Amino acid sequence: MIDECSQKSSQLLSIEEALGRIKAALCPINETEQVVLKDALGRVLAEAVYSPIHIPQDRNAAMDGYAFISSDRIDGQAFVLEMVGISWAGRPFQSQLQSGQCVRIFTGAVVPEQADSVVMQEMVTVEESAIHFPADTRILQNVRGIGEDVKKGCCLIPEHKQLTAVDMGLLASGGIAQLIVKRKIKIAYFSTGDELIAIGKTLESGQIYDSNRTLLGGLLAEPNYSVIDMGVIADNKQLLQESFIKAAKNADVIITTGGASVGDADYIKEILDNCGTVNFWKIAIKPGKPLAFGKINDCYFFGLPGNPVAVVVTFQQIVAPALRQLSGMQYGKPLRFTATCTSTLKKAPGRQEFQRGVLSQDEDGEFFVASAGQQGSNILSSMSQSNCYIILPKESSGLNAGDSVAVEPFSLSVKEQ
Ligand code: AMP
Ligand code: MG
Repeated sequence: MIDECSQKSSQLLSIEEALGRIKAALCPINETEQVVLKDALGRVLAEAVYSPIHIPQDRNAAMDGYAFISSDRIDGQAFVLEMVGISWAGRPFQSQLQSGQCVRIFTGAVVPEQADSVVMQEMVTVEESAIHFPADTRILQNVRGIGEDVKKGCCLIPEHKQLTAVDMGLLASGGIAQLIVKRKIKIAYFSTGDELIAIGKTLESGQIYDSNRTLLGGLLAEPNYSVIDMGVIADNKQLLQESFIKAAKNADVIITTGGASVGDADYIKEILDNCGTVNFWKIAIKPGKPLAFGKINDCYFFGLPGNPVAVVVTFQQIVAPALRQLSGMQYGKPLRFTATCTSTLKKAPGRQEFQRGVLSQDEDGEFFVASAGQQGSNILSSMSQSNCYIILPKESSGLNAGDSVAVEPFSLSVKEQ
């Protein structure tokens, strides 16, 4: 197949330049809202949260055993203490502990004020209320300090963090019931193309099902996005222009797929020139055809290519970082590392390629990556079978099996070997 983007690489914008331009153009949203903790997963914190309490608020036992006073230990000798009560988790020992006494204690239970040590239950011998401590009993052990996890007044979670399940647990341990988060960003999206029909209808010759919109819907399924699915819009200037104007009234961002090339029925650039300000680039990546980026009034738009794999790559590499910036989120770079490639990969110099790969790890911990098969921008099946991108730099002219290559995993699991 002839490379459809045979444009000279000098005319193409590097992905870094494109990302830099988008970053400079975007203003994170300022509006916030209050949510209850159970609704906060995946939302972006607008204000740092400080702990109103010490976590934990009491000294407590790190294991099941016996709490005692360290001065009762006789150096290098076994000793016996009298058990005078029990401290249960949630039901502390109520009396004063005296020298010569100890308390049965369970994990998480409050350590009596006078005690400073807990010995593991397996270490002692119990003879009714007489507890025999061995000579090698260690003192000042197994007591969790007040505020050992987080001190009262200290930061639990910083602002701009997207809340994970662990963050939710931490907030719950501080008793936080409500939070101020960034409001959701509103994203309208539609597919363009006369050939597209909805699932459920029978395909006529020349028609295809609109896979991009379902795909985009999945990519946009994030708790801090609120999406507006605007369906399929035909390759009709009037209809497209009306759709853009309507979407711009209701959304912070518009994402479209298709119609962004320079064919006769590719109207996106022309329409956006009419009703907004537009940057229209050819980016030096493959897959990834022209990308339209710009603004209609206060609404940003991203016009993505039509081929489904190009949609995924441009979304993940270009649109997703922009959406994260817009939602006010702090985020890092994608995880990339080196693996040994077990396939021979073909490539012409000129564009950075995101090939689809299958990443695995052997028993020694070494990473290997194989090509996931056909690499055409229309081949969604190989994308579905892959678990990583193989990233080939612009100037690369392919590689041989056994060479090292950069990979970007899609998730934190790899194929079992
Ligand atoms: P275009 O950018 O409109 O020229 O589209 C490029 C290729 O992507 C064509 O083969 C289209 O049929 C295909 N395509 C465009 N939109 C979609 C869609 N929503 N779902 C699946 N394929 C699409
Ligand atoms: Mg089209």
